[in-house]
Amino acid sequence: MTRRRQIYEGKAKILYEGPEPGTLIQYFKDDATAFDATKRGTINGKGVINNRISEHVFTRLTHIGIPTHFIRRLNMREQLVRQVEIIPLEVIVRNVAAGSICKRLGLEEGEPLPHTLIEYCLKDDALHDPLVTEEHIACFGWATNEEMQDISAMAIRVNDFMAGMFAAINIRLVDFKIEFGRIWDGDFSRVILADEISPDGCRLWDMATGEKLDKDRFRRDLGGEEEAYQEVAKRLGLLQDDGTPGEVLDLTAHRKLRGKSEKPKK
Ligand code: UDP
Repeated sequence: MTRRRQIYEGKAKILYEGPEPGTLIQYFKDDATAFDATKRGTINGKGVINNRISEHVFTRLTHIGIPTHFIRRLNMREQLVRQVEIIPLEVIVRNVAAGSICKRLGLEEGEPLPHTLIEYCLKDDALHDPLVTEEHIACFGWATNEEMQDISAMAIRVNDFMAGMFAAINIRLVDFKIEFGRIWDGDFSRVILADEISPDGCRLWDMATGEKLDKDRFRRDLGGEEEAYQEVAKRLGLLQDDGTPGEVLDLTAHRKLRGKSEKPKK
């Protein structure tokens, strides 16, 4: 058997060449890093859970018309995705003050923001992912103004959808990071959601107790990170108490079931 070609290895994922041109396989590792990868560790089973959570969120976002790179989950740790040209920006959406914005602006953690805030950081480890403005993005050509309009509109839609999805399971969506990529069709390109959405890149607090159910448990040495990730998956209906996959309310499955009982249309 030939080994498949590795395209890229990041902190939490590996990308392999996909089965068809224009596709990649995204492999989710258990490795966790924080503070510019100066803190490293593993969270047992994280890759499996993040693969499931990201599949769930991307599938539901597709249902509301957000274009994403996700094609399908292949197995416990891998998913098939469309190959994109990554836009070198971390798009951060904030509803509540936490993390770096507190230090930067002297805000108290947990303070709701007057309105949802979008921030952009340049994806550059050597520069420690600096915060940049839309002026910088246009000036250095990291994305066009038209692409930024699409990106900010999609970021707000993703936030509205996810805030509701998590509120329904008693989780407060404090903030999150998403990434976008370009796909080309001849001379034309469009922007789609890429990377992953999981407790690695979101701040998720229990609505009643304020307990952190995300990577801050690892960043801040709070312990219980495995249980926290599992808790999010359980509340989303993706994992049962005994650790077996949950019966999630999958809209596609629903439609298929309904389709079967319906008489064929003429
Ligand atoms: N985030 C991320 N990757 C990064 C930086 C931030 O996924 O390289 C996420 C982080 O998990 C949080 C949000 O983006 O949900 C805002 O992070 P913040 O700027 O507060 O940075 P941090 O405090 O994590 O350094």
